[in-house]
Amino acid sequence: MRIFLKSIPILILAVVLFIPNAFAANSVTRLDGANRYEVAVNVSKQGWSSANTVVIANGTAYADVLTASPLAYKYNAPILLTKSTTLTTATKNRISQLKPSKVFVIGGTISVSNNVVNELKKLGVSTVERIGGSSRYEVAQNISKKLSSNSKAIIANGTAYADSLAISTYAARQGIPILLTTEKSIPTATKNAMKSKGTSSTIVVGGEISVPKSIYGQLPSPTRIGGKDRFEVAANIAKRYYSSSKSAFISNGFKYADALAGSALASKQNRPMLFTKADSLATATRAIIGSNSINNFTVLGGTISVQTVVTNQLKNEIVGKKVFIDAGHGGYDSGAVGNGLKEKDVNLTVAKLVNSKLSKGGALPVMSRSTDVFLELSERVAKAKSNNVDLFVSIHANSASASATGTETYYYTKYESANSKRLATEIQNRLYQAMNTQNRGVKIGIFHVIRESTMPSSLVELAFISNANDASKLKSALYQEKAAQAIYEGIIAYY
Ligand SMILES: [Zn+2]
Repeated sequence: MRIFLKSIPILILAVVLFIPNAFAANSVTRLDGANRYEVAVNVSKQGWSSANTVVIANGTAYADVLTASPLAYKYNAPILLTKSTTLTTATKNRISQLKPSKVFVIGGTISVSNNVVNELKKLGVSTVERIGGSSRYEVAQNISKKLSSNSKAIIANGTAYADSLAISTYAARQGIPILLTTEKSIPTATKNAMKSKGTSSTIVVGGEISVPKSIYGQLPSPTRIGGKDRFEVAANIAKRYYSSSKSAFISNGFKYADALAGSALASKQNRPMLFTKADSLATATRAIIGSNSINNFTVLGGTISVQTVVTNQLKNEIVGKKVFIDAGHGGYDSGAVGNGLKEKDVNLTVAKLVNSKLSKGGALPVMSRSTDVFLELSERVAKAKSNNVDLFVSIHANSASASATGTETYYYTKYESANSKRLATEIQNRLYQAMNTQNRGVKIGIFHVIRESTMPSSLVELAFISNANDASKLKSALYQEKAAQAIYEGIIAYY
């Protein structure tokens, strides 16, 4: 008995310790710093406690740094940043901690002056090797000379920094040089690099604005990884090369300073680089997070580059999930009518609120209709299927005798029976409480949209339009908002 009693606290402890982990939200780590130099230092601390080799580049010469990631990976070197004429204190201190015997300085004396080289030597670095060039194209060419032989080359636009950054992990891991082009012509330095490396095939990163067909056609056996914007280019790289990676780096797609040194860590950890807008995850980024089931994120930079709203989206279990929101009825089909209400209007109002909450939360909601139009039931199911959605939620209001009242949620057993029931239960348990209505429970119902949808699906009946008290709530903006919030939270709970 004493043993039994003693074991109870241990059991409780075990439950407290382990159960929350089982349901933990996505993991998000932010690597921050007061400025780009400190961010680079903090990034290096995540990957290196010591280093024989360090790569140093100018913190504002983006193109030079981004073509250096295969070099950094080859020498297992972190990338640190410097000002043109002097090392910052943070960078100096980090060099002293890492104690490298060799430093590669990337760029000419305008990017990194000889004074910086002397400072490095004073810190005890025995070999400082400069990889310079008169332009970013030449710097990239000279970096490629330091890499092992490889018949492939990556070609990116020298001013499309995001594209080089997005491919940097793959390039580094494969030992493929990143060479640069303009949109008008292939620079001589890049042509010479391909000649001397014996390049027989090329991976072209970016759309046809960055690398036009005229350039593409001159390259040896080119394959393009394009996209309609930088977010989609990065997502397509992750789709092609990192489909099994559950971890990713996230940086601002328009401000690269914080991400420059991140490419070395991303390469070391073999994780793709994805981009965000400062205040919201881009659609293509959400989609790849959802389709690759990425749940572990390293965010590069502070809360100005990547705002807290974005890290909250990343933490949310619904990030990147495609949820179909079906507002029942519409057009000439009013649905139930009573107490001054048409069901189609109530359904659409609540559906729009759910849609907006899902979108703000990081999901990819798809609405069956966003206006007062008629859609066949089969069209709704077909639209969900063609959008390849993960979940289907249909929103309705009920009607019967004036005395019938309450909230109920339906599922069907033909496809995804257990998951559909679970979805219906998570929504129902929150919805009747939010509406403060009678709990009519979770039921099996043979409605077309939940019978024919192949993904987990449920159909909610918010309350009865035919009941005066229920209808007063369906009419109220406050209860419409509460209902939408309950459905939204039910969907999160399902995940
Ligand atoms: Zn209905």
